[in-house]
Amino acid sequence: MNVTVVCEHNASMDSEEGKRAYPEGLGRCIASIAEEAGHSVTLVRADEQGVHGLSDEILEKTDVLFWWGHWYHGAVADETVEKVAARVQRGMGMIFLHSAHASKPFMRLTGTSCTLKWREDGELERLWCVDPSHPIARGLGEFIDVPEEEMYGEPFDIPEPDELVYIGWFRGGEVFRGGCVFRRGRGKIFYFNPGHETYPTYKLPAIRKAIAQACAYVAPQQPLAEELKCPHIEEFSIKQ
Ligand code: ZN
Repeated sequence: MNVTVVCEHNASMDSEEGKRAYPEGLGRCIASIAEEAGHSVTLVRADEQGVHGLSDEILEKTDVLFWWGHWYHGAVADETVEKVAARVQRGMGMIFLHSAHASKPFMRLTGTSCTLKWREDGELERLWCVDPSHPIARGLGEFIDVPEEEMYGEPFDIPEPDELVYIGWFRGGEVFRGGCVFRRGRGKIFYFNPGHETYPTYKLPAIRKAIAQACAYVAPQQPLAEELKCPHIEEFSIKQ
């Protein structure tokens, strides 16, 4: 299948820690997860100028879209957000990683502020699996440990997830709904909290496996629907 990875590049990735965590680049590391699963991957860069090269052609052939953003959510054009949301509603799968909780497409698709509690101090996160039979958690055991991660905590202002797969626990005592599935229209969305840009989280085999399984889970199971439009709206406007 065709996977597109939209990944922001920011100055924090050029720092010593950022380069140590991902010498190849964060986006390239995320892309390699889908490549190892046998998918064809297009990597799209985002920065302070917005998203570069997420053309209609690329979006139209995308089965699963990954989104990682942090500093430059505001630079993403509203037109892009609407196109992405419409394609999810037609059946495209989507995976939002880490700070993409505050990205425009995630807020558009959830309809909430997606605010949370956070503390950037590189502590252990233990992601407890709360749905052991869920396909995303297959073969991953009771929990996944991420030795260094940014703390994300509740309250996380999201709608009630359609499926809750992981709850993260941090040493400060905080907990977080860190692995959630939402259904929007015919599409499935997975939000996964691990992956701050200066910690090598996406190198961890268990995290890679969870993301690869999530990619398979949210992938469309049949050709995407045509644009979903209610015919009565047109009827009504004609009568006016
Ligand atoms: Zn972060």
